[in-house]
Amino acid sequence: MRVYNFSAGPGMLPKPVLERVQKDLIDYDGTGMSVMEMSHRSKPYEKINADAESLLRELMDIPDNYDVLFVQGGATNQFSAVPLNIGTTSGKADYVVTGNFSGKAYEEGSRFVDAKVAASSKDKNFTYIPELSPALFRKDADYVHICYNNTIFGTRYDKIPETGGIPLVCDASSMILSQPLDVKKFAIVYAGAQKNVGPAGVTIVIVRHDLTERASERCPVMLRYAEQVKNKSLYNTPPCFSTYVVAEVLKYLKEIGGVSAIQKINERKAKKLYDYIDSSDFYKNGVEKRYRSLMNVPFVSPSEELDGLFVKEAAANGLVSIKGHRLVGGMRASIYNAMPEEGVDALIEFMQKFERAHKA
Ligand SMILES: *Cc1c(COP(=O)(O)O)cnc(C)c1O
Repeated sequence: MRVYNFSAGPGMLPKPVLERVQKDLIDYDGTGMSVMEMSHRSKPYEKINADAESLLRELMDIPDNYDVLFVQGGATNQFSAVPLNIGTTSGKADYVVTGNFSGKAYEEGSRFVDAKVAASSKDKNFTYIPELSPALFRKDADYVHICYNNTIFGTRYDKIPETGGIPLVCDASSMILSQPLDVKKFAIVYAGAQKNVGPAGVTIVIVRHDLTERASERCPVMLRYAEQVKNKSLYNTPPCFSTYVVAEVLKYLKEIGGVSAIQKINERKAKKLYDYIDSSDFYKNGVEKRYRSLMNVPFVSPSEELDGLFVKEAAANGLVSIKGHRLVGGMRASIYNAMPEEGVDALIEFMQKFERAHKA
């Protein structure tokens, strides 16, 4: 039986994609082997790699002056790759800290560049996105780094901030392809695949081409954008199987109408859940409304004991991995692209039952 998996990552994959992968597993497209066993220098794999790129370009409307890379190391590796590749002119970088991952990006950046926290929402436990303006940033900063959707705290930018011309770098791990994103407003967009685009093991990097040529001498070869661009992400053995599944997810997303179609579904799913939470005096979501995430919905019941019971009973009802992150507590429903609307309906129904059973 398939369960509804509310995990923050790896997240669910669309069932038709899993079925496709299952069908391809033993014999991919008449090759007599699986993609896992295939040379990354073979024609069939080169096509998979090229398809993944062209589908992503089409779905995200990525301009021609941007390169698209499929690399390893997770989004976390980009916390180091970004400063080593583009933090090389003034050696200064400004970070907006809106949660756990943006804080980690800042800490890692500090190893390589003069990193500064330009703004933060720590004062209210990351329940909002700070108001940003170009005046907050150092004029000679090499880049400004933001995290568009904060997976743990359940916040999201409601607009792309103005930096006054400083290259803007975006960790889009938990929101990529969930809504349109105007790529040309960014210098770099990166995302681990395992939340919205595929299995763990592959990371998408979209980088404006002119920024790929200024890496530090000390930047390891695997992190060098220019080297990965030159080799079409095939400098060494790439995560072939993960990239293949990503390509299948992208094909599927295109089939169902692309990013604007999935955005509508995502907005409907999130609205249902937030509306129910807001209508109840049993559950609570503490995020400032305009910054509420479309993808990650944290909420609490009246007590920690009830939170624990909720997580346990939800799992027994096929609603799994809904425990909140330890930094926030309570519950968190991650409702990524592949979470069917029926999963959200089932969650709300369970929440109603639980509320009736435990309301004081
Ligand atoms: C999950 C996540 C990460 C970490 O991703 P890895 O691929 O595990 O390194 C970084 N940033 C955000 C916003 C995330 O949601």
